[in-house]
Amino acid sequence: MKISNLFTHTSKTAPADETSKNAQLLIRAGFVYKEMAGVYAYLPLGLRVVDKIKQIVREEMNAVDGQELIMTNLQDKATWSPTGRWDDKTVDIWFKTKLQDGTELGLAWSHEEPILKMMQRFIHSYKDLPTSVYQFQTKLRNELRAKSGIMRGREFVMKDMYSLHASQEDLDEYYSKVSDAYLKIYDRLGIGEDTFVTYASGGAFTNKFSHEFQTICSAGEDDIYIHRDKKLAFNEEVLEEGLRAAGVSREELELVKCAEVGNIFNFGDEKSREMGVMFTNSDNTQAPVFLGSYGVGVTRVMGVIAEKFADDKGLVWPEAVAPFSYYLVGIGEQGSKQCSELHDKYPELVLWDDRDARAGEKFADAELMGIPYRVVISDKTLADNAVEVTNRQTGETNILTITEFITKLSAASC
Ligand code: ATP
Ligand code: MG
Repeated sequence: MKISNLFTHTSKTAPADETSKNAQLLIRAGFVYKEMAGVYAYLPLGLRVVDKIKQIVREEMNAVDGQELIMTNLQDKATWSPTGRWDDKTVDIWFKTKLQDGTELGLAWSHEEPILKMMQRFIHSYKDLPTSVYQFQTKLRNELRAKSGIMRGREFVMKDMYSLHASQEDLDEYYSKVSDAYLKIYDRLGIGEDTFVTYASGGAFTNKFSHEFQTICSAGEDDIYIHRDKKLAFNEEVLEEGLRAAGVSREELELVKCAEVGNIFNFGDEKSREMGVMFTNSDNTQAPVFLGSYGVGVTRVMGVIAEKFADDKGLVWPEAVAPFSYYLVGIGEQGSKQCSELHDKYPELVLWDDRDARAGEKFADAELMGIPYRVVISDKTLADNAVEVTNRQTGETNILTITEFITKLSAASC
């Protein structure tokens, strides 16, 4: 992409009411636009990041046989009533609205009940199980506080997957497979080292339990006790239980701020019993379907990555999620011509700053936008058949021959 074609511009300032670092930087770099508190639009550069995160998540969900679909944003009260989750006292973040005839509707904050209801149409016998479906969907939640930028939106993109099984054992086995897939996702997103799985009980009188995926992040809202070496993490409510189970003492743990980047739930057969979602088992008896539900906060992850890696010059994207890998700056006639050719050949990889502006201004924008590599091609570097590549994260500059650089581009483009 050419900078001159981007309708967005960088800015030295963020809206005065924006206090979170992630949103301040994302707004200044032209990745997002703030409509109001907790409500953000994703502009071309930001959308590319969202799409890259989604693609990594999609690949890992496909690898555990998830089938992609999209459920609806308008939800039926009758679907949510049987489990008690239509009640605002149980779910305090509902946005609700009404049809012109007065019929009440809910705006999607999650999809367990609608998915189960839909699957009822397709699941008849044990032969239809197991099955697993997922979607990327804009969730709407009337969050009380929205001060964490895109890390807590009132409108945000979530990947939610739902798996249905004929037995608890089958669900447990799949649940742990998805847990592993999640760790792979966070690794690929560049936050694996700082992401911990925490156990959370579902409370008394229920067979359900859940795990949170918590990433160390000073802007996170959760307090988590971690053991870095053993890769253990506990939240306050299950701390005592967890310490005993893991055989570690409280003194060995560090208390850190984390952001919950994912959450998986093992519902057992509880929801299906409540909703009457049954199938015919191999012995010809009727049994309730076992349900697992698995969320990744796609836009929250983007916010966490922005927060964690940013420095005093701006954003720093890991290459896996960067909107472009290379920020090209041409100096002089030959340098610009070379940039233009590379841009035409690799439009998905390079962002070419073709503006008539000072090199210093371009460098500052490359840094603010957090593009992993800045590439300077000038008449002078060309005299040596070379380009100058600076790593955004380390600040290191390397000289590559044009051929080496083109080899890199063509390797990355296939
Ligand atoms: P939290 O405790 O942070 O409110 P949650 O328990 O309500 O999260 P889930 O309902 O499990 O979250 O949603 C799945 C994932 O979606 C979360 O792990 C998180 O990454 C993301 N998420 C939840 N709420 C928001 C939000 N308001 N904005 C952005 N992402 C969110
Ligand atoms: Mg919540």
